[in-house]
Amino acid sequence: PGGQDGEVGKAQRAAAAGEERGQQPTIFSKIIARSVPATILYEDEKCLAFRDVAPQAPVHFLVIPKRPIPRISRVGPQDAELLGHLLVVASRTAQAEGLADGYRVVINDGKHGAQSVYHLHLHVLGGRQLAWPPG
Ligand code: 5GP
Repeated sequence: PGGQDGEVGKAQRAAAAGEERGQQPTIFSKIIARSVPATILYEDEKCLAFRDVAPQAPVHFLVIPKRPIPRISRVGPQDAELLGHLLVVASRTAQAEGLADGYRVVINDGKHGAQSVYHLHLHVLGGRQLAWPPG
């Protein structure tokens, strides 16, 4: 990572850096707007759940708020109800996906958390035995 990976890699890093500073829209805003396609598992007025395009487990989906909060380290008390709602939707969608043997919910934040899209999202991963600790 971070090597000489040409113009595409450079552009992607520049976009990610802009997103890190809170610039919008990200690719997830486009998924909400349906201008980028995704396999949507659940939607309501506050949030959307859709399959990750690069799944890291047999079941891997994301739950995002429609309001574009950039990252978990930027939330405040006013976001508590929405954040709780995202967890309830994660749980119910995991159940609908048949993850009766368990699963993992992950939020990556910032550089050290390996966040790449600066629109808050919960990862839900399951369908195989996961290891701990993560890398
Ligand atoms: P992060 O690294 O920010 O926690 O996770 C971003 C996730 O979004 C990654 O797992 C990546 O595969 C997923 N992702 C990025 N672009 C798209 C896209 O256009 N469509 C979908 N469905 N997932 C995406």
